[in-house]
Amino acid sequence: MISLATPIEKVPGIGAFFQRKLKKLGIKTVRDLVFHFPRRYEDFSNFIPIRTVKLNEVCTIKGKIIEIKNRRTWKKKMSLTEALVQDETGAIKVVWFNRPYLTKVLKKGDIVFLSGKIAIRGNGLYLSNPAYEKISKNNEFDLSKLSHTGRLVPVYPETEGLSSRWLRYILKPVLSAIKNKIPETLPEEIIKKNNFLPIQEAIWQIHFPDSEKLAKEAQKRFSFEELFLIELYVLRARAQLSAEKAIPFPINVDLIKKFVASLPFKLTNAQKKCAWRILKDLEKPKPMNRLLEGDVGSGKTVVAAICALNVIKQNYQVAFMAPTEILAKQHFQEIAKLYRNFKVNIGLLTGKQDQFYSKKLPNEPVEISRKKLLEKTLNSEIDILIGTHALIQDKVKFGKLALVILDEQHRFGVEQRAKLLKESKTKKQERVIPHLLSMTATPIPRTLALTIYGDLDISILDELPKGRKKVITKLIKPEERKKAYDFIRKEIKKGRQAFVICPRIESKENTLEEETSPDSENSSDLKIKAVKEEYKKLSKEIFPDLRIGMLHGKLSTKEKEKIMKKFKNREIDILVSTSVVEVGIDVPNATVMMIEGAERFGLAQLHQFRGRVGRSNYQSYCFLFTNSDSKKTYQRLSALISSEDGFSLAEKDLEIRGPGDFAGTRQWGIPDLMMSSLKDMKLVEKARESAKEILLQDPYLKNYPYLRKKIKEFGARIHLE
Ligand code: ADP
Ligand code: MG
Repeated sequence: MISLATPIEKVPGIGAFFQRKLKKLGIKTVRDLVFHFPRRYEDFSNFIPIRTVKLNEVCTIKGKIIEIKNRRTWKKKMSLTEALVQDETGAIKVVWFNRPYLTKVLKKGDIVFLSGKIAIRGNGLYLSNPAYEKISKNNEFDLSKLSHTGRLVPVYPETEGLSSRWLRYILKPVLSAIKNKIPETLPEEIIKKNNFLPIQEAIWQIHFPDSEKLAKEAQKRFSFEELFLIELYVLRARAQLSAEKAIPFPINVDLIKKFVASLPFKLTNAQKKCAWRILKDLEKPKPMNRLLEGDVGSGKTVVAAICALNVIKQNYQVAFMAPTEILAKQHFQEIAKLYRNFKVNIGLLTGKQDQFYSKKLPNEPVEISRKKLLEKTLNSEIDILIGTHALIQDKVKFGKLALVILDEQHRFGVEQRAKLLKESKTKKQERVIPHLLSMTATPIPRTLALTIYGDLDISILDELPKGRKKVITKLIKPEERKKAYDFIRKEIKKGRQAFVICPRIESKENTLEEETSPDSENSSDLKIKAVKEEYKKLSKEIFPDLRIGMLHGKLSTKEKEKIMKKFKNREIDILVSTSVVEVGIDVPNATVMMIEGAERFGLAQLHQFRGRVGRSNYQSYCFLFTNSDSKKTYQRLSALISSEDGFSLAEKDLEIRGPGDFAGTRQWGIPDLMMSSLKDMKLVEKARESAKEILLQDPYLKNYPYLRKKIKEFGARIHLE
């Protein structure tokens, strides 16, 4: 007896060989198997008599094999299997290419269904490479039994050499066996209200749909389900948080004015507006949970600094977390500069070398031992502690933490906040949790933000500081490569610097800096530019007279820092790097960003790279190189060339690349199916409404154990970061 929990080893027909392949896909049980959904369908439902076939028509015929044999083509390169198939109305030739084994399966006299396209050679029509399905000799065949022909046929994602034909062959009997054993996962009332297919029916229809309409209905149901769970999760998190307490900070207008006046530039209107919003949030006695979105270079750091100062000057502490050590250090230096005249103690906590900037000596930061730094954090001597993820380690305890600022970290939950407060002095009093300000330059499409950031309030910095010149972006043809190098040389002679980005570290496999590769099928792996080779080539052949540096994720933190420092200090002219330079690095003197294998990066990521230049008054350039000539690549790169708006690029990326690959979603842990549903704004809203209704009548989901379990799993997944 098969049930959802049955391991695949116990399923008849799945031998050791296929068990291994399935496991590679993460398919361990019948449940995993039946929830492995097709990517699309082939429509073979057009049944016709042989006499009526037309050129280029996709159709299904049923007939008897009159003869079948293999032969080699005259060039002896290809094997052809040729058959003649006949029904009551006529006969047609059938040809398969390179499938000689077919003569072992299909024999003269067999009755077969064949589905495929009609082609022509000379003046004879023939059926080309059809899918086939043999039936037993008697003609009493129930059409509904067909799996590979004569219907909408599921096509599964190509994976690990598991063919769609094999999956259909296995799935059909499995689905029949568990037909009445799949418990409903959505609340009954939601199914009724939305007219969704019940799960039994939906599972069947998503694999073997009776019609296109039913296939769509099944997909819709499952998309809804993903969205619904996420909405439940997000709304619950929001409700939980708003029941918590935080320390309120009245706005010290004089202080803020003084600070703003001390800046070497005028704030943009967007910066003023966003800073004000955040300060207003901090005034409230409940935890702020705000996301500050702003394109690269829009000046998020100073907005954060304004709000942090308001907290610091009321004698509470701020934690400022950056995604990498390089960035943490950069923030440390930047913040020290900004607070120069405001007497603030600033700590930097990184992997090895901690630093301390004391308000008593407003000159240079000094090195400090970890022990000392932790002490000063605990006794509240440090006003703002800047660092990487190290900040949320158990060892780090704050005396009076009230605000957490996260730069380029997408998820951070209630639990982590509570962790930051663990055993801090506030524990003796009432439980309060810190305010949270997240910052990101990864523009998030509207639907996505509404869905996964539904527990956050969002502010957008939609204005760049004045005087910035537009980065000139160009797609460079292979034959123009030399010209591009000459151009770089000229810029460097003028005193500027350049980045060269490559998708990989080494030219072997397994050395991708991260799993980029939106269009990987289009660029042969061998041609992917690797940092090490490019570094060699540039320093030996192209620019032997210039100073070239190399940066990638496999270098130690110390080495990375050394190189970044050299680049910042202009001791390196050209920095060859992987995507590690992606977020936040600020080298205003760099004016050229050259990107190899541009098709391997998402639009949002490319936009980030481009944001590394154009950070000063010098005209800057972004050169894109690609080996791919696919239309998709061209579309995407053209979008980048014509737009400087990170938000519209993000929406474009979602639109062109579709589900699954959206830049950064891996970080967010969003399931693929949901990515495609996100395009359906109506469905997103419906899911949100339904989640609200359920929570209204049952806030703790007491009556919905399954949902409770699912959102717990979901929470664990997205908080792993
Ligand atoms: P991002 O939003 O990408 O984090 P940053 O905060 O790093 O941007 O700011 C980018 C650069 O712009 C920094 O050098 C910063 O000093 C500068 N900057 C910030 N705000 C302004 C402004 N209003 N006018 C001019 N320059 C600004
Ligand atoms: Mg930044």
